[in-house]
Amino acid sequence: MIEDKVVIITGASSGIGEATAKLLASKGAKVVLGARRKDKLEQIVGAIEKEGGQATCLVLDVTRQSENDAIVKLAKDTFGRVDVIFLNAGLMPNSPLSALKIDDWHQMVDVNIKGVLNGIAAVLPTFTKQKSGHVIATSSVAGLKAYPGGAVYGGTKWFIRDFMEVLRMESAMEGTNIRTATIYPAAINTELLATISDKSSAEAMQGIYDKFGISPERIANVVAFAIDQPEDTTINEFTVGPANQP
Ligand code: NDP
Repeated sequence: MIEDKVVIITGASSGIGEATAKLLASKGAKVVLGARRKDKLEQIVGAIEKEGGQATCLVLDVTRQSENDAIVKLAKDTFGRVDVIFLNAGLMPNSPLSALKIDDWHQMVDVNIKGVLNGIAAVLPTFTKQKSGHVIATSSVAGLKAYPGGAVYGGTKWFIRDFMEVLRMESAMEGTNIRTATIYPAAINTELLATISDKSSAEAMQGIYDKFGISPERIANVVAFAIDQPEDTTINEFTVGPANQP
């Protein structure tokens, strides 16, 4: 059931996070949105409320533990509990290793890996106490298959796969009933390519997205499907992308 679930979404100011927030709110979830751009978050909350949905937001940089803790607190103070966290914030500044874009490498590790760890650290005590909770994370097909230009990005998304599987196993062993779902999207039309500063990588990716990219609502549908399963059922992995992308 989605209705009345309290769902925290990181990276909610655009793309997949925004589409998911709007879809879940339209199905009766109470959504708590986090990202760095306050104006975008407030616009999305306004749009959800205009449609009769319930939403709130907080400026969140996932690289800061205190801000992850604060969004969990906001969810509990506003809506009384947390049922789902969608760890979705991420960026993809692809480049060949020889370009030595070291700052980009570190930023991907900080946001795509440490951001996920910070989110889990913030929410796990609540889920453990409740003996229920649902962790959904956005990996990527880059977490399943290597490609030139994606060494660091792909590595951060491989990490999510391993991490989520261990989370599932440990919560089953410890009896905390935490459900997990990892999503591996292919080309989805969002603002993601804007994070690529390497010209050749940007052009190569733009070509792929122009040819194949599909709407972020497709991923929102999958998140909704995962949440909607019976509480005793976890669907661990979804690979989702354009039907015509090889
Ligand atoms: P967008 O660029 O549209 O969304 C990325 C979101 O992450 C934004 O809301 C951005 O908000 C947020 N974000 C970035 N850095 C931080 C930070 N430090 N703290 C908090 N929020 C942050 O792209 P997508 O919707 O495509 O990306 C969502 C996820 O999907 C990412 O993890 C991406 O890797 C993954 N993905 C996307 C695919 C695609 O084809 N689009 C394919 C496979 C995976 P703000 O700037 O306001 O902080």
